[in-house]
This record gives sequence, C-alpha cells and structure tokens, in this order.
Amino acid sequence: MSMAPELEASHPIASTADQGRDATGAQPEAVDAHAATVVVWDVPSAVEVGGRFRMKVGVKCASECRLADARFGVVDHTGARIAGGTLPAEVWPGTAGLYAREIELQAPAAAGLHEWRVTAPESEGAGAHPAGSVSFGVRVVSRPEHVVTVEAIDGDTGAPLAGARVVLHPYHAVTDERGIATVRVAKGAYRLFVSQTAYATFGLSVEVADDTTARAELSLEPVPERN
Ligand SMILES: [Zn+2]
Repeated sequence: MSMAPELEASHPIASTADQGRDATGAQPEAVDAHAATVVVWDVPSAVEVGGRFRMKVGVKCASECRLADARFGVVDHTGARIAGGTLPAEVWPGTAGLYAREIELQAPAAAGLHEWRVTAPESEGAGAHPAGSVSFGVRVVSRPEHVVTVEAIDGDTGAPLAGARVVLHPYHAVTDERGIATVRVAKGAYRLFVSQTAYATFGLSVEVADDTTARAELSLEPVPERN
C-alpha cells in the first residue's frame, strides 16, 4: 500500500465520503467535484431486539447534481446488505441538492451497539458518482423484563409526590397520586432521574438485575426572592 499525499477533500457535510470504497479502490483518491456525501439522521437512541425502526438517509453530490433514483444500500455489522432503496425525485425540502428519504429497518436479535453503514450511490449509473458512505450506531437493547418501582417523596415532609417524571433512559414514567411509578426495563446499569416542579432533580445509580424498588427523596429548590 502506497501512501498518497493527503489531499484535502472539500466535503460540504463533515461526516463521510470515500470510506465505503473497496472493490473499486483502484481509483486515485483525488479531490472529486462529484464526491457523494452520505448522511443519516433521526436514528433512534435505542431499539428493542428485533424491533423495527425508522430513520432518514440522504445523499448529496458536491456539485449538487440531480441524484433522483440513485440507489443506496444499508450494510449491517456483519457485512450483510440488509436494506436498500432509491432516492426520491425531489430534493429534501429546504436543502440544496440533498436527496433523502425515510427508511424502515429491523434491529438484530443481539443486544449491543452495532455499527452499520449506508453507501450511495450503489451503481455507477448515477452520472459516474463515486460512492460515499457513512457509518452509524444502532443501539439494540434487550426486552424490558424487570420492573423498577420508584417512590417519589418530599424529603422534608415524606409526602408522596404525584406527577413526578421518572427517567431510566431510554425508559420513563410519571408517578401516580401515591407518588409511585413503575417502569419496565431491561437488565443493566442505569442512572435514575426523578424530577418535579419546584424540586431539585434527584439522581441515583441503579443496577437492575431483578425487580427493584428505589426511593427518591426530593428537596425543594431554593425559592428566589420575590419583589
Ligand atoms: Zn455530481
């Protein structure tokens, strides 16, 4: 492998280009006025094992060529091509030359953070655009099988706090009139946050290996002086 002098490619969006090249890697990696930049967004923060999710895929040529009907492909962490599609006829609203669409994918059966990749255009048909690609993380979580019961009370009076927001990211719930919320979560380590108007947010590290109970004692925020 010879190290070519580094040429600074001017990609309009920072994420990508040129990494997905393998079979056609013989081409010189020069600055290409038609470099394709691939972007993804709206990837969910977590997906249940085997669950379906939606995200956006977009492709843009550095010279803003029309990329309608160009094909893109999605490759999973094992290298298998698991999905593909064609770009729409019109640019994404409010953009210059970004062709994008929403796609639906299925999470694998194994929990963990998986690196997937979108490559486009897939064929040389799209005005001889060399393919660009972007990788992104798909966080797959086990099905929520344990119940965490959270009791939110006023730390001074012991009174139950109804309507408090309970978060064990990515799960959340709201306490009932008894100050109790139950959240179904997957086994794992979490940071529990409980918040309620006028109170300082309560935080606690929780290790969930079975059904668990946590007590959140909230303190009132200092009240600012009124005029
Ligand atoms: Zn182009």
